[in-house]
Amino acid sequence: MSGHAFSYICTHCKYEEYYKQGHGYLVKPQTYAEYKRTNQKLFHYEIHNKIVKLSKVHPGLVINATFQVYKCPKCNLLHNKIQVTLTDGNVSLHTNRFKCSKCRSKLRLTNIHRLKRATCPNCGKSGFKRQDLHDRLWEK
Ligand SMILES: [Zn+2]
Ligand SMILES: [Zn+2]
Repeated sequence: MSGHAFSYICTHCKYEEYYKQGHGYLVKPQTYAEYKRTNQKLFHYEIHNKIVKLSKVHPGLVINATFQVYKCPKCNLLHNKIQVTLTDGNVSLHTNRFKCSKCRSKLRLTNIHRLKRATCPNCGKSGFKRQDLHDRLWEK
């Protein structure tokens, strides 16, 4: 299993950060039995508790976990988070939501291929841009 990491560099201060998108070694679609076997607190405790609770009434529960890039609509900062969507068959039971660590606005899921510019987390200017050449595969 592998995903992509996308490099963003600030045109003002040269600060660089990688954002992961896709599946990793543990962050991937999995059944509750698989999730329990890894015996790790992969996610935030709230979503973990939701998984445990739903598994009791949904034996076919699938935990769809994937790295996603979110953007704050207010301050334009990027946030790399693990999106967890809980499904049973074709029924979507729950999706986790995130808030901006800076301004507490609700984050929006972004398509990193279309996202051109964001706010630099280092200097706060809006010159944070994706570097096409530095995209790389990662395994984790
Ligand atoms: Zn914000
Ligand atoms: Zn900067």
